Amino acid sequence: CLSRIKKYNEHVNAFIEVQNEEVLLERAREAEDRFNRGMVKGPLDGIPVAYKDNFCTKELATTCGSNILRGFTSPYDATVVELLQDAGAIMIGKTNLDEFGMGSANLYSAFGPVYNPHKILSASGDIYGTEEKRVAGGSSGGSAAAVASGKCFAALGSDTGGSVRLPASYCGVVGFKPSYGLCSRWGLIAYANSLDTVGIITKTVEDSHLIFVDIISKYDERDSTSLPSQLRTFKSSTPSNSRFSHDLNGLRVGVPQEYFVSELSEEIVKLWRQGISNLRSNGAKIITVSCPNTKYALSTYYILAPAEASSNLARYDGIRYGHRSEKDSSQPNSLDEDGGFLYANTRDEGFGEEVKRRIMLGTYTLTAGSYEDYYLRAQKIRRLIQSDFDQVFSKPNPLQHHNNPNAADNNTGKEGVDVLITPVATSISPKISDYAFLPSRNDSNPELPNAHDLLSGVGFLNAYVNDVFTVPANLSGIPAISVPFGISLTNGYPIGLQLMAQYGDETTLFKVAKILE
Ligand code: GLN
Repeated sequence: CLSRIKKYNEHVNAFIEVQNEEVLLERAREAEDRFNRGMVKGPLDGIPVAYKDNFCTKELATTCGSNILRGFTSPYDATVVELLQDAGAIMIGKTNLDEFGMGSANLYSAFGPVYNPHKILSASGDIYGTEEKRVAGGSSGGSAAAVASGKCFAALGSDTGGSVRLPASYCGVVGFKPSYGLCSRWGLIAYANSLDTVGIITKTVEDSHLIFVDIISKYDERDSTSLPSQLRTFKSSTPSNSRFSHDLNGLRVGVPQEYFVSELSEEIVKLWRQGISNLRSNGAKIITVSCPNTKYALSTYYILAPAEASSNLARYDGIRYGHRSEKDSSQPNSLDEDGGFLYANTRDEGFGEEVKRRIMLGTYTLTAGSYEDYYLRAQKIRRLIQSDFDQVFSKPNPLQHHNNPNAADNNTGKEGVDVLITPVATSISPKISDYAFLPSRNDSNPELPNAHDLLSGVGFLNAYVNDVFTVPANLSGIPAISVPFGISLTNGYPIGLQLMAQYGDETTLFKVAKILE
């Protein structure tokens, strides 16, 4: 892993920081020694893993890909980092990301873009030749690129609206987003709390399953949204191929018709069909289903996520931690008169364009004048999107049952499906120059675009359309996984398919993913 990092990281830019080589080799020797004495620490003893740089770690800096946290070191490890370390994993480094998780192409990092590593696996010399570089996807682009190029065996990412699944699909690896509340968010720096989940990126479905079920899916009292132990139904299992059955007889697979959007490329439609027939030939019954509110998911997400983000990001003011502007050095701590610009200067210098745009959008939708039109309405639509899923799945949503045990099942008397199969993205990984950017502030355009224009205007959907298939799972809290399924016949880049299941039904999700793999 280390030699691949040395050889390729400057081309791919997957890591923001790599652990000291001596420390790594010493830890590897200790793990080997434990192995020889038959005293392994856990299932990942000595295995190099990487963490997206929005997970707090005591060692190495935690930057969120932002200048505002450049050089910041956390006094504690995130719960999931602790759990992986207890299982023996060795942290090899911290991976690059879109600043604070905001983006879909990993082009918005203060540490530079992440490039799709796919071609380095086949080429020599100048790894990209004359071909234009393609994006790794975001926001966990560094984690996906690191696993895809063999720089670590697994990496954690975070998935707020698809940030683990989209880069996994573009880079040809497995990206899993668990049900909301199953993996502790304690120590994962918040972007949008009600949507954020820890995500796992691995080469295989089995590795993902092992890390999830056996290691990081645990109740944590430090996370107030962690699901209590008595509501966790799935059983832990020992790693072995036997836990995956290859028979899908009796399984019902839904194809949501609303996912046939006009932006979908022909190549992806073809692959989606192949995925469907693959499951059919393994015994599954294929059923067309409807999730009518899907069409509102993208706009709903882009109201709610920035609203939560604008509130979360208020803490970066230059006072407590992170970057502090030196412009007001005569009165560094004064908050009135001239010193009052300390907050503004700090935030102006510390945050990138996209983060500023989201803060503006979020602040705008939370103001008294627009709260009801945007934020409240988006919350209502979020419920409708969630109930679409409850209507199509055969299993009841365990959270609804728990909150209201007397409620009749939404889906009583109706045969639902066990999983949904959809594309992850509308196309293969775009070229850097193809990526649609929103207008940004520069000399000829000194003002950031107005929030109202952004919400209603041109450009909004273009720039954010890549998330159209992934945000519904976050809005409703259900588990979803992106599995590499094919390669583009035009240029050899990988393409993934997405599976989604009812809340808490990771068992079925992994079973079907294993077959698709
Ligand atoms: N692309 C989406 C966004 O920018 C999702 C990001 C994520 O899941 N962290 O908000």
